[in-house]
Order: sequence, then structure tokens, then C-alpha cells
Amino acid sequence: MRVTFLGTGAAMPSGRRAQTGLLLDADGDSLLVDCGSGVLNALARTDVGYEGVSTVLLSHHHLDHVADLLPLMKARWLAGAEHLEIVGPQGTKALLDGLLDVHEYMDGRIDLRVREIGAESFSVAGFDIDAKETRHSMDCLAYRFTHEEGPTFTFSADSEAFAGLANFGDGSAVLAHDCSFPDEVDVSNHPTPSQLGETLADTGTEVERLYLTHLYPHTEGRHEEMLESVGKHYDGDVRFARDGLTVDIE
Ligand SMILES: [Zn+2]
Ligand SMILES: [Zn+2]
Repeated sequence: MRVTFLGTGAAMPSGRRAQTGLLLDADGDSLLVDCGSGVLNALARTDVGYEGVSTVLLSHHHLDHVADLLPLMKARWLAGAEHLEIVGPQGTKALLDGLLDVHEYMDGRIDLRVREIGAESFSVAGFDIDAKETRHSMDCLAYRFTHEEGPTFTFSADSEAFAGLANFGDGSAVLAHDCSFPDEVDVSNHPTPSQLGETLADTGTEVERLYLTHLYPHTEGRHEEMLESVGKHYDGDVRFARDGLTVDIE
């Protein structure tokens, strides 16, 4: 499986990172996970492109995860693609209905299939996925991906660090976890590096590599100290994600 970080930013832009989006590829199967502002453009820079991705999986409905959905739909329509499947938590149908209500001319341009899922196991676009509810300011799902029983990739989506989520990611080859702010920012609904490190250490979570993502501008220039904060507690391989980074998970 190959994971491309299309966007590693969050709701406040820094100019260096698009909002959240990940492209998963495996043996010809492709899946877009989240579609925040800037993600469509980043997707266009990949070999797969927006023409090659017909399924989007949403973690939740905050704007920094869904803002490019209609632009994606329109780009696919103009490129001659005939369908798009959007899978997401409860409320995804209402979200799409609302968007198409506002942008009425987009309604019916493409065969749109919307599927709502909960904290369950399901398959989509050739990937086997487990979902878990996170701790965030709206309903949000973390996902654990495998493709044909290969190695596992886990995406925390937006969430505080907590034992249940760490256990959910345990044993993954790669875990991409929300680490929105440096330690001194008093924040709820997202973890600080110390909180993330403590939670992973306390639960004995083992992953081959941890990527920190969902990065607010507050984190720019602070990466060294943030890695130290995680590393004070957790001794695994921890790195920062960046836009355009591709990780081959063997
Ligand atoms: Zn977010
Ligand atoms: Zn969010």
C-alpha cells in the first residue's frame, strides 16, 4: 500500500500545507480519504489524479475535511468521469444534499452514490477498513486500512489522544495521528505532542512509524521541540508528515 499525504494542514492555513487529504493506492485500487481545501489541486499533481479516484472516504464533516468535495465533483464531471462514491459518517447524505441544494447546477451532473457508515468494519474501493469513533468536537471516525491482508495503515483523523484510539492503531505499520499544536497551546479536541506521547507509551502501542499531521501554523518552526515532547514518553520512530510525502508501506 502506498500513502500520499496530499494535505497535512488544518483549518488555519500557513501557506505551506493544504487542509486534510490522503491518497491510498494499492494494486490499482485508489481511495481518497478526506478532501479539505487544497486537496483537489494536490490530487491533480499525483499520477492517479482526480480522474483516477472514484471513491472518497470522509472522517467527519468539518470544513477542513470536506471543502473540496464539490470542486472534486465538478472536476470529475468536466473530465468526463461518470460517477463518484462518497462514504462517511452519519449525516454525509444530508451534507451532500445541502451542498447540492446551494449549488443546484451541479445536481445530476455525475452519478453520485453516498454511503453512511458507523464505527464498524466495511470494504470500500478494494480496501478493508475498520472504523472507530474519536474524541473530537463533532462525530468523527478514525480508520484502519488493509489491502488484501497486507500491512496496516491507521489514520486517527481529528481526535484527542486516548487509550482506545492508541489501541486501535496498535500493530499498524504506519500510524498518522493528529498533532495539531505544540505543547504550550491549551487545546481540547486535538492532542499536544506530550499528550500523544504519553498515551502511546501508557498503552504500549507499537507501530513501525508514526507520522504527525493536521498541523496548525503554530507548529511551524517547532518541529524539533514537538518531536522531543513526543520522544520524552514514546520511543518509536516519529516524523512529521508534509504535503506530497509518499510512504510505501511494505
Ligand atoms: Zn480538521
Ligand atoms: Zn475536525
